[in-house]
Amino acid sequence: MPTQRLRLNDGHMIPRLGLGIWQVPAETTAGTVATALRMGYRLVDGAAIYGNEAGLGEGVRQSGLPRDEIFVTTKVWNDDQGYDTTLRAVEASLARLGMGQVELCLIHWPCPARDRYLDTWRALIRLREEGRVRSIGVSNFMAEHLERLVGETGVVPVLNQIELNPRLQQAELRALHDRMGIVTQSWTPLGQGRSFDAAPIREAVARTGKSPAQVILRWHLQLGVSVIPRSTRAAGLAENLDLADFTLTDAEMAAIATLDEGLRCGPDPMTFA
Ligand code: NAD
Repeated sequence: MPTQRLRLNDGHMIPRLGLGIWQVPAETTAGTVATALRMGYRLVDGAAIYGNEAGLGEGVRQSGLPRDEIFVTTKVWNDDQGYDTTLRAVEASLARLGMGQVELCLIHWPCPARDRYLDTWRALIRLREEGRVRSIGVSNFMAEHLERLVGETGVVPVLNQIELNPRLQQAELRALHDRMGIVTQSWTPLGQGRSFDAAPIREAVARTGKSPAQVILRWHLQLGVSVIPRSTRAAGLAENLDLADFTLTDAEMAAIATLDEGLRCGPDPMTFA
């Protein structure tokens, strides 16, 4: 499962399942990342604002795996939006990571009130041309931000990382991504456990013998998206990786579709600054 990959619109591949490291303490990040990589994870989702990029880089080195087998994502934080500030912010991320290049760099939030995401994007295009980042994408972008970005620059993000879980299924945005050739990646994929006790999840758990988290992660994979659950426990890391030996039926997928309430766990991208 972790080695299954999706093709990005620039020809590179991204693992379908990865490890998210938001709120993983800086001092334990290297150990968590190295453990996960040794277990089979191949994608680690970091960000400058998480404050643990040094640990991410250290964990990659500690894992002993060849660097080219690992997919590292980082993100440009809101305060760094703008052309020159983004160039400097990405160089600072690379220095903290101890890497010459990351596989993917995202604009963390559109921050429409700041209105700097076009300049931020132009800086990422330059960093890609210079080889400092291999692929470029966005996070928390809504339809109007994606359409403006592509309309003004002609460069389509490879991926949009958005909040997506059974209570917030984002069907319209996923359909737009499909039309534009953008991979969807789900953050807070477990939705803070809000649907663990819902009947469609409980019924799939009873039939498959898997956990609620595994059923929900499998649902993400069957939607065709990439997913980045976070766990710091070895047992949780292993559980979230163990998704290959079962399939949700069409009826189970349809039942989970009824759980959508359009409810966010996190901030609203239209107003978050
Ligand atoms: P998540 O949905 O991955 O859930 C994490 C929580 O679920 C933790 O409390 C963890 O202990 C628990 N958990 C993990 N595995 C479990 C299991 N098998 N059974 C029961 N509980 C389990 O939430 P998240 O960390 O918010 O999101 C995942 C990643 O997405 C983040 O770490 C980060 O990398 C990324 N993210 C990005 C943005 C963004 O704006 N781009 C925002 C939030 C998160």
